[in-house]
Parts: sequence; C-alpha cells; structure tokens
Amino acid sequence: MLVTGGEILTKARAGKYGVAAFNTNDLEITQAIIHTAEKLSSPVIVQLSEGAIKYAGLSDLTNLVADLARRASVPVAIHLDHGSSFESCMKAIRAGFTSVMIDASHHNFADNVRDTKKVVEAAHFMGVTVEAELGRLGGIEEHIVVDEADAFLTDPQEAVQFVEQTGVDYLAIAIGTSHGAFKGKGRPYIDHARIETIGGLLSIPLVAHGSSGVPAYIVERLRAAGGEIGEAAGIADDDLTRACQHGIAKVNVDTDLRLAFTVGIREVLQKNPKEFDPRKILGPARDLMAELITHKLTVLGSVGKA
Ligand SMILES: [Zn+2]
Repeated sequence: MLVTGGEILTKARAGKYGVAAFNTNDLEITQAIIHTAEKLSSPVIVQLSEGAIKYAGLSDLTNLVADLARRASVPVAIHLDHGSSFESCMKAIRAGFTSVMIDASHHNFADNVRDTKKVVEAAHFMGVTVEAELGRLGGIEEHIVVDEADAFLTDPQEAVQFVEQTGVDYLAIAIGTSHGAFKGKGRPYIDHARIETIGGLLSIPLVAHGSSGVPAYIVERLRAAGGEIGEAAGIADDDLTRACQHGIAKVNVDTDLRLAFTVGIREVLQKNPKEFDPRKILGPARDLMAELITHKLTVLGSVGKA
C-alpha cells in the first residue's frame, strides 16, 4: 500500500528499528525493492533522485513505482531524494510522491530554515511529509573527530532549533556517513555519541544518508567479473543497528544496489558472451539486488514490521 514517509518512519522511530530507503532508476531495481520487502513483511521507502527523474522521466518512473507500491502487501512510500528546490518538490508531489526531501543544507542556517519551511507548509497542505538536512555529509577520520568534525557534523542544539522553526517531519543529520562507495580509509567512523544526543533531544525520526554496506564479497565479485574499483568501504552492519536504537529511522542505500546490479550483469556476460536476451542479462542482476536488500532489511530490524 502506498503511504507517506511519515507514517512509516514514525512507527520505526517508536519501535527503534530502521527503514531502508533504496534509490531506483528502473523496473528491475523497483521490483527487487518492493518484492523483497513484501517477501519479508517489511515497510520500505523507494526514492528517486533528480538524476533518476532526468534519466527515466518523472511520469514514467513515478507511475511504475506508484503502481507497484499501491499493489504491495506492505507499506511503501515514494520519496524524492535531495530535492534541490521548492519547484522540484512540488513537481514530485504533483506526480504522486508521498514524501519529499528539500536539501538546502549547503545554505546557512537561516536560509536552510526558510527554504525548508516553505516546502513543509506546501507539502503538509497536500498530505505529504518532508525530510530536510542539517550539517554537511562527509566521512570523518577517527583522529580528527573532536574539534574539526564539529565544523560540519550536525550540531545538536541547532537541530532542535531547526525542527522547531521548520516543522519538518524527519531530519537528515551528518554523523560520519558519506555518499558513494568510498567512505574513507578502512572502517568509516560513526559518531554514535552525537546520534544519541540528537536522538535524546528530538523525538522525530532521524535520517542517515550514504549508508550502503559495500560488502567485501560484492567488491570481490565485481573485480572477478572484470570490474575495476578502488579501496571501497561501507558502513558496518553493527553501526547501523546501534544508530537505529538511538533515533535513526530512515537509512539511505544506493551504492549497494548499483554494485549488485553491475556484478549481476558482468557475471552473466562474462560467463556467456553469446547471451543477448535482456531478460537473461537483467534477471540475475535483479536477483542479486534482492539478496542485498534482504540483508539490509534484516540488519535494520524492519523484517516483520509491515
Ligand atoms: Zn543523500
């Protein structure tokens, strides 16, 4: 069933588990996400970036996701990831999104409040819930955690003021996670003390961006199938489990599915150079994405929570 992000995330925050928000660009990714969530009785969020909309077309992709979501046996929200403007958020809402993110985190505090508040007011009027971001996402090295990290990680007191002034429904915070497959040297450092402080001050669901696990076996299989990738590193499973105990309720995952998709395709084509049936090329990619999704939903504790 198609529901708002707020409905899914409020329950997750109260139940101290996380809900995965996976990015989609096409049919195979969307089916892997929603069908796996159904199989595991888990709520899930399917999110589209502005890049995905540009690639697949707003109407084409939204209708595909919305149709699968409406027919799903579990709660599904369609979310705009990193909406860059009021207009972008309104277009998404008109197309059928049930959740939008307005990302004005690159602005100063006052401008971020102003832009976010404007989207919140309009979105709430139309029954859609809103995510905003405070702080700047980026990996932190263990040894610089104390002072320098404060410059870009989310300040707890600012977070309280931001939520009060904007009325935002869920807030993305900078806690050491970062986008992409390269999250720093070795295991990325997650500032759990900061999550606990912010989670203690705010009762709304918190959001962690850039939370792919980048499992070693997928990286190995990518290399074995002829792919090239540097020293990739993701967020450890136990870091996510712990974060969800203290307020993180929405966990964004894109890189893991990109890697699985690519490995699936590479392996088929490497094994069978004569293959040219798209279904036999894309099918295994969809299966491998489903495997990673299953793992993520299990780690976050959303299995059986639908
Ligand atoms: Zn993000």
